[in-house]
Amino acid sequence: MPVYKAPLEDMRFVLHQLFDSNEVTALQGNEEFTLELIDSVLEEAAKFSEGVLFPLNQSGDLEGCTYENGVVRTPAGFKDAYKAFCEGGWTAMGADPEYGGQGLPIPAAMMVEEMLCSANVAFGLYPGLTHGAYVALKHAGSAEQKQMYLPNLVSGKWSGTMCLTEPHCGTDLGMLRTRAVPNDDGSYSITGNKIFISAGEHDLTENIIHLVLARLPDAPAGVKGISMFVVPKFLLREDGSLGPRNGAQCTAIEHKMGIKASATCAMSFDGAKGWLVGEPHKGMRAMFVMMNTERLSVGIQGLGVAETAYQNAVAYARDRIQGRSLTGVKAADKQADPIMVHPDVRRMLLTMRAYIEGCRALAGWVARELEILAKSTDEDARQAADDFASLMTPIVKAMFTDLGFEIASLAVQTYGGHGYIRDHGIEQYVRDARISMLYEGTNGIQALDLVGRKLPQDGGRLLTRFLDPVLEFIEAHEDNAALAEFLPPLQQALEHVQVATGYIMENAMSNHDEIGAASVDYLRLFGLTALAFVWARMVAIAAPKAEGEDAQFYRAKVQTAKFFMQRLLPQTGALLAAIQSGSATMMEFEDSAF
Ligand SMILES: Cc1cc2nc3c(=O)[nH]c(=O)nc-3n(C[C@H](O)[C@H](O)[C@H](O)COP(=O)(O)OP(=O)(O)OC[C@H]3O[C@@H](n4cnc5c(N)ncnc54)[C@H](O)[C@@H]3O)c2cc1C
Repeated sequence: MPVYKAPLEDMRFVLHQLFDSNEVTALQGNEEFTLELIDSVLEEAAKFSEGVLFPLNQSGDLEGCTYENGVVRTPAGFKDAYKAFCEGGWTAMGADPEYGGQGLPIPAAMMVEEMLCSANVAFGLYPGLTHGAYVALKHAGSAEQKQMYLPNLVSGKWSGTMCLTEPHCGTDLGMLRTRAVPNDDGSYSITGNKIFISAGEHDLTENIIHLVLARLPDAPAGVKGISMFVVPKFLLREDGSLGPRNGAQCTAIEHKMGIKASATCAMSFDGAKGWLVGEPHKGMRAMFVMMNTERLSVGIQGLGVAETAYQNAVAYARDRIQGRSLTGVKAADKQADPIMVHPDVRRMLLTMRAYIEGCRALAGWVARELEILAKSTDEDARQAADDFASLMTPIVKAMFTDLGFEIASLAVQTYGGHGYIRDHGIEQYVRDARISMLYEGTNGIQALDLVGRKLPQDGGRLLTRFLDPVLEFIEAHEDNAALAEFLPPLQQALEHVQVATGYIMENAMSNHDEIGAASVDYLRLFGLTALAFVWARMVAIAAPKAEGEDAQFYRAKVQTAKFFMQRLLPQTGALLAAIQSGSATMMEFEDSAF
């Protein structure tokens, strides 16, 4: 049976030491969030995740969701867990107090989200989508819509969905066909078929609020003709109570590779009553607010799943005995040594650990900037934070989920053949991690967003929000002996980013395929460099505390940083070479030869 223990010590390190929590709690509206309160929220979240959600992870995977005549049932235990989740106030955690939320600072909320994903990523999708719907309605909804929907979304009494995908269009939403025809009473009749809708139907909440993308009769072609509508499963009466069933039905659920306890629904909208959210034809803009929130959440799914896979790989590597150490017997009382003695097993474990802790630190940085964006009164600080979060969103989404899958696969490798066998429960993590590379925009599309949109935006200003703090850090620590072996690799990786950026900018003007050819490698190169920076920052804090008996946590930080710099970061050189080879090798290959 798999195990999971929330990594609270590391979370506190990131929140309080790496990024000073006092700066966050000093922001307007955060006055009541003392460090002690934040820590106790984390502890409660750990208890809930470990004690309630994690025990349902494997059974939820085995049982999956079921569909019968339009009714979808979640696996045994999910309803009770969801009720307890709402009663514990977890759905309200990150929401505005005006609508019944708790306004927990984003860095702490992100750590809680990681725990949910580690414990049960399929469960986490239900409140996750609801939070996305809350964000979109709060941003683009009318005052009346906010009043009508937000409090019940925040309390978890109702859940939310995002209905974009149609059978013939996923990435290219410009082709979507769902129609919205105006009614005399100001509402619209929505007709069309959506597929792959997470939480489109289920038995956890009394109402489901769909946010649906559709075209008005006079809509221009393409993405500029898409509007967003709010379509409740049950229509609401004047007094807010539930009225008749709307014409939105689930016609089937998908049978899929992983996240089996999350209902992925085919939805039919047959003249369903909906209401326009925001302006006509501006639906993509409103939906992007939701998608950006979701993209970061999906990145955290990658990290969360990786953490549990890692913990189990460590436990197995301690326990499993096989072969003898190359440098002499280590467990003389046993028939063989634990596999942890073998360099290759240690390589796998340290690879997982270095990526996970690096990603958690990077997530902490992005979350801090998002909190500044949400609550700071300083316009310049908000702009800088917005730039940084925009730049990093595709990196967090794509790199964290690519690594989540790689880490889950390394965990299976650590188990040997036993990892492939269902009873051990570790293969589930590979299957559950795989989806996060696909939805919310595939990782290939994230890379295009980074290179094609974020890099050139505002004359390259977004990029400087990353480069400047790294350069400042390097300058400030030039004479810091503790960082002597960490700054040169960071500097070199940064140079690789700069050279790659220059190469793409120079060549993309004459050949747009250069962007698409370079983008995935560039995103990884950039992401690894961002990890190198947060690792160097972690060393700056950990190295002075790494002596003495109680200092194992800090010593491990410094040692993991060394592993990252020496064994993982050198990939940036190969990525740069691949980028500089250009697009010709792939584009000159004849289509018919494939
Ligand atoms: C389990 C699950 C849950 C989902 N939940 C939801 C949900 O709640 N709501 C919702 O609306 N959707 C949801 N989706 C849909 C998901 O977002 C899409 O599957 C995804 O965006 C990709 O679209 P597609 O599957 O049509 O692939 P396609 O768009 O057909 O892409 C196929 C391949 O081509 C590549 N590609 C496409 N266009 C380009 C381009 N311009 N440049 C380079 N490469 C390109 C892609 O990267 C991909 O590798 C879910 C999907 C799954 C499987």
